[in-house]
Amino acid sequence: MNERTGALANEPFGGDEDLEKALRPKRLDEFVGQEQIKDNLRVFLEAARRRGEALDHVLLSGPPGLGKTTLAYIIAEEMGASIKTTSGPVLDKPASIAGLLTNLSEGEVLFIDEIHRLAPVVEEYLYAAMEDYHIDILIDQGPNARSVKIQLPPFTLVGATTRKGLLTAPLRARFGIDFRYDYYTPALLQRIVERSAGLLGVGISADGAGEIARRSRGTPRIANRLLRRARDFAEVEGDGQITSAIADRALNALNVDPSGLDEMDVRILTTLIEKFDGGPTGLSNLAVSVGEDAGTLEEVYEPYLIQEGLIERTPRGRTATTLAYRRFGKLPGGTPADLFPGPA
Ligand code: ADP
Repeated sequence: MNERTGALANEPFGGDEDLEKALRPKRLDEFVGQEQIKDNLRVFLEAARRRGEALDHVLLSGPPGLGKTTLAYIIAEEMGASIKTTSGPVLDKPASIAGLLTNLSEGEVLFIDEIHRLAPVVEEYLYAAMEDYHIDILIDQGPNARSVKIQLPPFTLVGATTRKGLLTAPLRARFGIDFRYDYYTPALLQRIVERSAGLLGVGISADGAGEIARRSRGTPRIANRLLRRARDFAEVEGDGQITSAIADRALNALNVDPSGLDEMDVRILTTLIEKFDGGPTGLSNLAVSVGEDAGTLEEVYEPYLIQEGLIERTPRGRTATTLAYRRFGKLPGGTPADLFPGPA
């Protein structure tokens, strides 16, 4: 058995979540793409290491599945530090954040996912912790109430958010390093798919990897998930090797359309076009119509559809672009596109 794939080849005991962890790059050099982030981070890491200091606090923003958690682990690994992880909604009381902060060791990385969802009282604790590495804890109540200052060891807070706009200005200002993720190109995703296939010990042709990469919404997490499903089809219906035909078969079965839009993307666009005459329509209206939460629509689906030039956010609401109409063989106004053939 291949040493690198050994543990993963016995997949029955590992669910998708374990696999996701196993596919995570551990070092900066294994992290594919996001070159600007990596270039800057290398310098900041090296400078902090030379000075023997903790890395400055890092804010990572961008849609889900683009590698924010992965990078937080990599930062800890590259600094030779340990990492504690939590998330905004979990830290609901000052006591929970105080407990976490006072248990940090020197140079440790504290990763807070969904940091835009921190309760305001919890967030206020973080200000002093981030700025001067201390917290003020209030003990006792009533006339005996007094605050005690507790010094913390230097640490690095890595915050991840899908909604940077929801972060308060004082919190945002306390991050010395601020990285925004871009969606991955198909070429980068192809490298990720090929790397993951290697780790999973599954054979894949360049065409097969390319097909999965092209239809993964620019997102490594989706690419890895589609790869695992394609592997299922390859094992059951083929000879175990993922060819482009097998990949295409798996992607169609999962309702990923040939241009890479998933079921919800298609539903959003057809609803906008057919029910709302292309818009503009408000976010909440659209969310109810497609049966999805408005926040998810805004954080997960819209950024990709906007990037692909299929919808626009206007002050009056969301509109479908001409490109979106063409995608479904229509023209604004309800005329079938093939009556007016134009540039594709
Ligand atoms: P996020 O925290 O942004 O939601 P994750 O860091 O959990 O995303 O990444 C999801 C999965 O995608 C990880 O398991 C990892 O295997 C993969 N991944 C993300 N970014 C990269 C990358 N740049 N190179 C290789 N794999 C990646």
